[in-house]
Order: sequence, then structure tokens, then C-alpha cells
Amino acid sequence: MKKSLRLTAIIMALLLAVGSLWTGSAPVSVYADETPMLISTRLKVGAKSHGFTLNTLSADDSADAMLQVWEHDKTGAKVYMLVNDDPERAFGILFKTEPSDDTGKLHILEHSCCAASDKYPGLDVFFDLSSQGFITDINATTWHSSTNYYLASLDEQELMNGADYYLDCAFHAAVRTNPNYFYREAWRYVLENEDDPLDVTGVVYNEMKGSLSDIDSYTLSYVFKHLYPNSNYTYISGGVPENILDLTYDELIDFYNRCYHPSNCSAVVYGDVNYDKWLEKFDSYFGKFEREEFKAPDKYVPKGNYGTVNDAFPVTADTVDLSGRLLYIWDLPDTLTYAEYTALSILASYENEITSPIMQALNASGIGSAYILSPYSYGDQRQFLVYAYDADTSRADEFKKIVDDEFAAIAKSTLDKETLDCIFEEEALAEELAYNTNGIGVSCVSSITNAIEAQDIEGMILDEGIMEKVIKMFDGNKVLTLFKNSVIKNNNKLLYAVTPEPGLAEKQDAALAKKLADIKAGMSSKEIKEIIKQNKAYNEWNDQSNSDDSTLAKLVTADPAKLDVTAPVYDTKLTKDNGVTIATADIDSDASFYRYSFDLSNLNKTQLRYLNEYIGLLGLSTTTRTQEQVSNDSRKYVNSFNARIAYQTVNGKDIPSLVISFYAFNDNLEKALDHVFDMLYNTNIEDPYNAAYIAQSASYAVGTFSDPGNMNSLIASAAGAYTSKSSALSWYLNGISEYKFLKKALSSEESFNKFLSGMGSAMKNVVKRQNCVIRVVGSAKSRQASVDSMLARLPKELKKYKKGSVAKIGEKSKTRKNVAIEMNTQAAFLLSLYAPEENKIKDTAAEMVALAIMSNEMYIPQFRYLLGAYGAYCGATSEGLVYAQLYRSPSFVEPFETILQTPDYLEQIAALIDEEYLEGYKLQLISQLITPTGKWNMASNELYYLASGEGHGPEYELAAAIRDLSAKDIMNAVPAVREAFEKMGTVVIGSADEIESAKDMFDKIYILK
Ligand SMILES: [Zn+2]
Repeated sequence: MKKSLRLTAIIMALLLAVGSLWTGSAPVSVYADETPMLISTRLKVGAKSHGFTLNTLSADDSADAMLQVWEHDKTGAKVYMLVNDDPERAFGILFKTEPSDDTGKLHILEHSCCAASDKYPGLDVFFDLSSQGFITDINATTWHSSTNYYLASLDEQELMNGADYYLDCAFHAAVRTNPNYFYREAWRYVLENEDDPLDVTGVVYNEMKGSLSDIDSYTLSYVFKHLYPNSNYTYISGGVPENILDLTYDELIDFYNRCYHPSNCSAVVYGDVNYDKWLEKFDSYFGKFEREEFKAPDKYVPKGNYGTVNDAFPVTADTVDLSGRLLYIWDLPDTLTYAEYTALSILASYENEITSPIMQALNASGIGSAYILSPYSYGDQRQFLVYAYDADTSRADEFKKIVDDEFAAIAKSTLDKETLDCIFEEEALAEELAYNTNGIGVSCVSSITNAIEAQDIEGMILDEGIMEKVIKMFDGNKVLTLFKNSVIKNNNKLLYAVTPEPGLAEKQDAALAKKLADIKAGMSSKEIKEIIKQNKAYNEWNDQSNSDDSTLAKLVTADPAKLDVTAPVYDTKLTKDNGVTIATADIDSDASFYRYSFDLSNLNKTQLRYLNEYIGLLGLSTTTRTQEQVSNDSRKYVNSFNARIAYQTVNGKDIPSLVISFYAFNDNLEKALDHVFDMLYNTNIEDPYNAAYIAQSASYAVGTFSDPGNMNSLIASAAGAYTSKSSALSWYLNGISEYKFLKKALSSEESFNKFLSGMGSAMKNVVKRQNCVIRVVGSAKSRQASVDSMLARLPKELKKYKKGSVAKIGEKSKTRKNVAIEMNTQAAFLLSLYAPEENKIKDTAAEMVALAIMSNEMYIPQFRYLLGAYGAYCGATSEGLVYAQLYRSPSFVEPFETILQTPDYLEQIAALIDEEYLEGYKLQLISQLITPTGKWNMASNELYYLASGEGHGPEYELAAAIRDLSAKDIMNAVPAVREAFEKMGTVVIGSADEIESAKDMFDKIYILK
């Protein structure tokens, strides 16, 4: 029962609030004496360089990171440069853009602006760059008040090439002289013959159709129409599909000319960079403009209590599940400081514990299936909210009363000091592990961007004492006074109730069809011919090849032959002790990573199912500890605790395993193990409070199955189940049969009791020494200590160890090749996946490059540009998995036929490929494979392969194989690609109409409404 999936969107807002800018030391690098960091330390405020003046310099003199804020003298543009020694550098450029309607013009501009420019002509250079540049990340985002373009690279010159591309797009975009980019990204009429019905398509049009047909995304977008009436906050920055059709090309260009000016922009540069070179680059663009004044929009004046607002969410007439969403939301005062906002976030996290009175009251009410309290932010406004999932919206008043009463009680409560200490201690371990990830530069660019947005660099980035300020607010419960004043007594609020309305989806479809028919009926034959002509002209334009070689030569300057693709070496050891395989790696750190896997092949399928439910509940009270104790110990002693069931390769054999992993400070190891083993063995299923919570979690989990976004994350395992045992296992545990299992468990008291007792005995035959593997990444001392403690805790090997029916999961006869899932969605999701039985490095390398080429040369032009699908990709993973996907597509039947032709198309173009053409694709794939992800992650990945008997992880060997590929190898990959596409299983999520009309295509159709 994974609760995290749908909560992620909201929690992200919380993370942004709590997570401060990390400026620690970076992964291993070797430097000359004059590092960019060293040069930076000699800077003083007031320094001048290339038309910029240094305004602010972070006070940090520990010299491992420094923030410089430069202002362009002529235009006022600001450049924020966070210099440290991280080799994965990042760049971002941000424009203030605010919507004045629901046409989504800022979002459409984001898409069309970065497609091409005067200096970089092409259909969509962005996709060429993202598929062929030596870059680790590239994307652009739009939110309510800004548009941000960013990228990251392991090479400073490549980063600067990409930055030059973005700068040229920002100030000399191709869309300003060519409306085809508008037709592609916004919308266009589709009409081939005079007698056809008029249709429309467009990338953003389809993207938003998909996005707003998710009830959570709908609720969290539309609520602002009612919370901030008569202001620009009421507009949906992404665009509302029917309003997108009102936008004209001229309006878009007018908006571009108004907003994309240096005086309205900020740039961010991160990592091991030379500030002087960057300022020179910025000046070469900014210096051509004269300063302009950009007036901030009028400050929003809160207008009081809006009571309850009811809204209908469109679903089809046959929808059975009519539970909706309840959202109680406050507009937080603009005077709130960042430290205060952070304190409210921590208070919310405290009150989100299942033991808190407010959660107990909400859970007992039965109004919804899950609840969350959280601060939130929208544009430059901040809010506080309480959200109920799968809610009975007819009980909105009751929900409001519970929240009001409990909020009043919170204001009078005394916060538990021990719990608060645990929350603050949690931060210490998180900080130690902050570099244990990839893409730190992009996260920092995004944190700085948020601070620019809030006009609070001082408070959000430069204030090193922020945590002390926050902790002080919890002294003497000052935070409760803050909560009382900014939330409870705050009258700028509303209760938003969103209820699905069956039949409304059909009504809206019919209205659009009628609108288009009326438009066509009102056209003269000359106008109709004009549209056909325009359509043809668009398709011809789209048929050209993308950027030419000279464009790419300017952007991609790294040489794959010169890249260092040698794997980092870790001090690893593999031993066996009493039947237990032990793999360890030595790294220098106060915290270690622990991963234990236990063989589950003795279980039968039902036992495995119960075990899967049981491990989803770890964290509830145990027979030896109360809920408060379990929650506090979990905060204090472990980080990123995870328990899951998956195939693991051990000594050459694939074994279905229970995998437990976590990080802990070396000094806390014993306490961490006590905590973990107590949860594993003693979680108290019978406790009445826990049982009620379990019932509610099960009902929440059932609710997630009718959510297209959630199902989309599951379709990879559904599509792969046909060819891969590990996908079949994951589809068995989390797919439709899990849905049916939970529904049955909730159908009567008797079946629920059976469900509980099944879970109660789930751990009985697990966690023995059989095929147990211990993997530890840490200091030499912590490794030995952890192995000794673990061995002492592990029960002996079972003498009689019989294989259960687990191995039968994924037997070919029982899995279906082509599956459809009917849901309430305005856009289709399609995924096909194939896993080969064995995967050889050289074959995988050739397939990865061949399919990256197909993705860029076939999928994007065919599916994104012609059809209007938001996402279209194919590729191969480092494990040799071959995939093809369409995401938020207007249809799937025809595109599916086209997907099946991928091998033919590959065969045709492979004959034309030369060595030079391959270089960019090689660079892109190599950079994905060798991006550092932190010493714990990288060493533990290495340990996995050590214990598996395969030696090393495939990444570096693959990178070397890709580097050495020739054009002939791509041709030789055709048969393997052909086999993959013939054997693939396909899963489609779509509307009932389209799936029913293509029902012969599927072996099985599920209906989830
Ligand atoms: Zn978009």
C-alpha cells in the first residue's frame, strides 16, 4: 500500500520549504592550483567584470562554496553564481512571466521559445541537444509567475554551449518569425480533405488535457480561481485546453516581446565554473539591450472568507467511484518570513503523524481515505492547506468543523519536546547524506530560483542561521502563536469541494465537437481550402530534417573518444560466513549504508502477497513500542528506510528477495538495527487503532487505482510482465490483482479479519540465513560491527527448505501480452516493453544508441510534432530492457501500428549512418552512465554486482562499449531490435471509447472507474 505516490506532489512543496541550499564538499576531483573556487575567494563586493558589478557575496569563508550576485550595469539583469568544486555544473535562466488569461501563453512560449533560434536554426534543436549533447539534464518549467530554462553538464564548455543556445533562444527565438512552432506547440486545425470533420491538436493542448484530467492536479490548479478572485492568480499558467484554442500567434509573440528582456531576467550558474568567462558570455547578449522598467503586478489584496465552493470534476457516465477531494486552504500573509514559513512546515510535519489528535479525528470521521496538512506555494503566494483524498464531499461541513476544532486545540497544545528533538536530529543525518544523489546543481538552481521568485535571497539562501531561528520558534511554543495568527485567525480562506460528475466528460467532448462543427459550417469553401493548405504546409515543414550539422557542431564540442570512462575503484570485500554472503565497501564517512536481502523462494504466492502488505505497514506501533516511540526512533536513527520485494541476483542465481535498506550514523547502528528488527518482527497488526488505520490505507490504495497518473507508473511492470520475471513479480504485487485483493479484503468484516491474520503471520518464514546477503558501505569499523550484529540477530538456516509457488509468478502461460485499462482520462498512455533473457554489454550498447537515434529521428517528429502527443520515446536501459512509450497522446491505435515499424525504419536509416553522426548520441548516453551519484550510492551499486557474482556494475563497461561503437554495429543491432519489438507486451491506459473501438488488439481489458 504505497501512500507516497499521490502525496509526492504536495510533499515536494514542503521539501522546498525545509530544504536549504547545500554547500558541502563535492565528489572526488583533481585540481590545478588556481581553481575557480580559489579565484572566487579573492573577490570583494563592488568588483567589476564585463559590464557587471558584484553586489553580494556570501559570508561563508570556509571556502568550499560561495554565492556571488552580479548585476548588469546597463540592463539590471542579475546573475547568481554558486561556485564550488562540483564537476556536474548547472545553468538556469529565469523570466518573470505572469498569465492574464487561461490560454497558457507563458507555457506555450516556454515550449516554442526553446525550439530554435537565429543562431541555432532547426525544427527543434532542444531535442537534438537533449539527445546528443554531453549533458546530464535539460528541461524547462513554467509556473504561475515565472518560466525557467535549465541544463547541467560534466563539462564546463558544453554547459556554456547550452547556455549560449538558451540565451539566443530567449532573445532571438525562431518562433517570432515562424508560426509553425506555434502550430506545433500550441494548437492547429487538422483537416486533410474537405469532407473530414474539423479536428484540433497541439503539444501543450494535449499535455494539459492529460494533466487536468487528474483530479488532484485539477483540484490544486482550480482552487486558486476561488482563493484569489479578480487577480492574475486565478489563471492556470499551463493553460486550459478549451482556452488554449483562443490564443493567436500574434498574441504569443506580443507576450514574448514584452517579457523576454534582460531587465526582466535572472541567470543562475552552479559548480566548478570560471565566473569571468560566464559574465563575458552574459554581457554579449544583455549588452545589446537598453534598460527597461518592469513593473511588478499590483500586490494581491486578500478579500476575506469565501466559504465553501463546490465544483464538478468531469468523468464519464459509467463512472462508479464518485469520491472527490476536500481542500481547506488559507492564503498566508505576505509578511511571513522564510524562517516562519519553515517553522509552519515543521509544525505541519509534526501534526501529520498518525498519533496527532487532528489525524486521529480525521481518520475516525471516515470522510476521506487519507489526509495531509501542509504549507504550499503558488507563484509568489504562500498557503496553508488540509487535503482529504477520496472524500465524501457531501460531508464538507463536518470536515471543516473537525479541522477548525482541532486547529483551535493545536493552538492550546503543548508540543512534545522529544518528538521535536527527533525532527531536528533527522536533519543532521539528511545533511550528512546531501551529496548522495545526482543533479545537485539542478536542485540548487531551483532553490535559488525560488528565492529569486520570493525576492528573498537574504532569507532563503544567504541566512546561515535559519535553522537556529526555526528551532528558537519552537522554544516556548512561539510557533503556536504564529500558527494562531497566520492560520487560525486568518480569514482569507475557503473550503473547496470537488466532486466527480458522471456524464460531464461526454458533455464537454460533445461541446468541443459541436464548436468545431460550427466553426467549419461557418467557413467559406475558400477558408476550408486554406486550412487544408496550411495543414499540408505544416506537415511539409515538419518533414524536414532537424538541426543541420553546423548547428550541432556549435553545441556539441566534447569528443567521445577523449572521455575518461574508467570506473572508480572502491575498497570492496566479498566473504561468506555461516551461509551468509557479506559484501562490504570502505568509504570515509560518519554514516553508512546497509542493505540486507533475504531469500523468499520458500513462500507460496499468497504468503508473498501478505508479506508485501505487511512491509507496507512498517512504522506502525509494535508489541514492544508505542506509536510515538516508533515514529521518533525512525526519525532519530535511520534515513531512507526501505523494505521491498524484488528479484536479486546472488552468486549467479536470480532469487525473489525481501530487501531491507537504510542509512544510519555509525554510532547509532545498534539502535537502528533494534528499531528495524522490532518493526520487521513485531508490528502490531492486532492493535485496534492500527487495524482501523490499515483498513483506511487499504481503501486509499484502492482509490489510487482509478487515478491515471498512478496507473501510468505501474504500466511498465504490466507491459514487462510478458517477458520479464522481475516485472511480472512487481505487476503481481502492485497491479490489478493487488487491487482485487484489497477490494475483497474490504468487502466484509470476515474477509478483513482474514486479511489481518494473513499479515500477522507474514514474517513467519522470512529472515533466515538462507541465501541471505549483507551489503554495507561505510568505514572499516562500522562494517565489521554491523556484520557481527546482524549475524547475531539472524535465526539459523532452515533445515527443510522447500521451494514455494513464488517462482511460478510470471510463467508465460499466465501473463497477457496486450492489456488495456479503461479509465477517466482525456489522453492515452501507451507503453511496450521487452526484457531479453540474457544481455551482453556490446549488444546492449548498440541497442541503446540505435534506439536513442530512433527516439529523436522517428518518435519525436511522428508522435509529438505530427500527432501532438506530449511524450514519445523509445530506448534501451543498461539492463538491456527495450521500451517504446507514448504519454498524453490524443490516440493510440494508429501510433501503435507505427511503433511496430520501428525496426524497419531503423534498418533504412542505419544504412545511411556514418561515424560522425554517432558522436552526439554516444556523448549523451555516456554522460547519463557516468554521472556521479554520490559515494554511498555508487559503492553500494558496485556491491550489488559483487555479491551477484557478475563482478562490476555495467555502467562504465557500457560507456566504454558505446564509445567504441562503429556505424556498422548499429546496422548489426537491427535483428535484436526486431526481436524486441516482435516480443513486446503492450499496455494502454485510455478512455473507454477508444479502447472498446480497438478491443481486438487486447488479450485483456480492465475497467477502473
Ligand atoms: Zn509543457
